[in-house]
Amino acid sequence: MLQGMQESEPIEQAGAGVPDNFQRLWTPHRMAYIKGENKPVGSGPGDGCPFCEIPELSDEDGLIIARGAAVFAVLNLYPYNSGHLMVCPYRHVADYADLDEAETTELADFTKRALTALRKASGAQGFNVGMNLGDVAGAGIAAHLHQHVVPRWGGDTNFMPVVGHTKVLPQLLRDTRELLAGSWPASA
Ligand SMILES: [Zn+2]
Repeated sequence: MLQGMQESEPIEQAGAGVPDNFQRLWTPHRMAYIKGENKPVGSGPGDGCPFCEIPELSDEDGLIIARGAAVFAVLNLYPYNSGHLMVCPYRHVADYADLDEAETTELADFTKRALTALRKASGAQGFNVGMNLGDVAGAGIAAHLHQHVVPRWGGDTNFMPVVGHTKVLPQLLRDTRELLAGSWPASA
């Protein structure tokens, strides 16, 4: 979807000076991430952990796609692709090995349903699925585990995520949430 960027012709833009080969990207969600907004102040559940706070919000405000008994599915606020979501236990737990049986089972079930919803809603052709456990492994919020589900399409990667750590997103998060909630299957 973005693979044509490198070959695009210079575009005339009023006020932008001499046309060049650079595209301008407005990615405010990444600035919020860079500035550390929504980051917890400590590792406890009461330390501003977003995954503990999100379930208290409405589905719309929390960008929640589906709620189960032990886990919920929520859109990532700083997505690497449209539809990048996470499956989280309600319980504030850091280590996958510490999930109880009900949480383990429903986390797997919700992951499967997420794939189905993303295929239905956006025709995803592939996925990156997994967890970063611990700060050293790259977890943004290590104290509360979360399984990432990132939909992939042929040609969805380009130089931007690699060089600029910036991803172009063509859809608003609220619209994405509504689309995925509407595509969420009743069972895995
Ligand atoms: Zn938490």
